[in-house]
Amino acid sequence: MLIVQKYGGSSVADAGKIMNVAKKITDAYGQGRKLVVVLSAQGDTTDELYAKAREISRDASRRELDALVTTGELQSAALMAIAVHKLGYPAISLNASQAGINATSAYGSARIKKIDPERIAGELERNNIVIVAGFQGINKYGDMTALGRGASDTTAVALAAVLNADCCEIYTDVDGVYTADPRVVKNARRIPSISFDEMLELASLGAQVLHNRAVEMAKRYRVKLVVRSSMTDGEGTLVCSGEGRDKTVEKTFVSGLAVDKSIARIALVGLIDRPGIAYQIFALLAKEKISVDIILQSIGREETKDISFTVAKNDLEKTLEALEAGRDKIGFGSISHDDNIAKLSVVGAGMASNPGVAAKMFEALYDCGVNISMISTSEIKISVLIDAKDADRAANAVHDKFMVEMEG
Ligand code: ADP
Ligand code: ASP
Ligand code: MG
Repeated sequence: MLIVQKYGGSSVADAGKIMNVAKKITDAYGQGRKLVVVLSAQGDTTDELYAKAREISRDASRRELDALVTTGELQSAALMAIAVHKLGYPAISLNASQAGINATSAYGSARIKKIDPERIAGELERNNIVIVAGFQGINKYGDMTALGRGASDTTAVALAAVLNADCCEIYTDVDGVYTADPRVVKNARRIPSISFDEMLELASLGAQVLHNRAVEMAKRYRVKLVVRSSMTDGEGTLVCSGEGRDKTVEKTFVSGLAVDKSIARIALVGLIDRPGIAYQIFALLAKEKISVDIILQSIGREETKDISFTVAKNDLEKTLEALEAGRDKIGFGSISHDDNIAKLSVVGAGMASNPGVAAKMFEALYDCGVNISMISTSEIKISVLIDAKDADRAANAVHDKFMVEMEG
């Protein structure tokens, strides 16, 4: 039996925690399992490395930034191998190059292109516990690329897919996927099993417990994915295809709630009301590879219109620069932005057939006096844009309103 296990940053934050994980790994190995272990950088190491670079320059080369931030995972992997050796078991740590993880050259958000598993397979054959640095790949120039924040999950699922592992276990600081972030929403409950589609929506809408690309890949390659705590024993959450879920799936139309505070809103006021304006704006942003999320167009004064939209907070400066550069061509009166906002979303596969969901969400927000500035819906989710300062309060209120449905 081959298992891929992934441990997140808080699970390997210090020497004691590393020994705790080493113990878990060697227990599984002792039961006759073949093990590939993917690790994140310790604690807040990745943030600290980004901060160190910023101290020197706010305009660091993306290649060098990746060279820097991927060192966090290298440390964890080597330290874990040392810990496993101390317990008397065989282990070897591998970086992305040694593990054959080939990725694109999009520094900071590279994608895994192909994994050559020969080295890992050979080490498993030699009965080693194979410890792989997460979050990194090697591009065509042989340079280290970072796969994006939270992407060690994706490394783990990709390895599980390529190695045909029996299971991919994600160990973190909560004991499974909850109906909402349990650190924010006090009545959040653990979900025993959740479909790939719902998990993908939750992850993409801000539930950081799993990286969205990891869920996408697990769905595509049918990887059995389980989320558990690295500190306590428990069943955790099984992420599986819809059919694999228990019978409550028909009854529950809202499965969870997510909050994303890493977004910003931009408003263009006084646009000329003629065909092609929206095209010009969004083509300009697409050219800069800026992803746009919620878009709202409204009628302005004197034959003009206004367009507001959201982008990732990290893209705010780039977006403003691109729009300013295109000001003459597009023609707008003024531009404003706000990055003290949050997107609150409810997700559920049964939502499309239950017309009351939006009303119920808006009622909960009204009851706690939270103003909505934008709304966006799809078959499986409803998102609203609110002030960041209201986000936690609103999340609790909306969650409580749907609690009965979430209980199934
Ligand atoms: P790791 O370092 O192990 O990768 P992360 O910090 O990336 O851990 O993800 C775990 C965190 O995700 C939890 O501590 C929790 O606060 C947050 N979280 C957000 N939404 C959810 C959710 N729906 N269920 C569980 N945890 C969630
Ligand atoms: N260490 C990386 C990050 O903080 C990757 C990960 O934790 O998954 O984003
Ligand atoms: Mg994570």
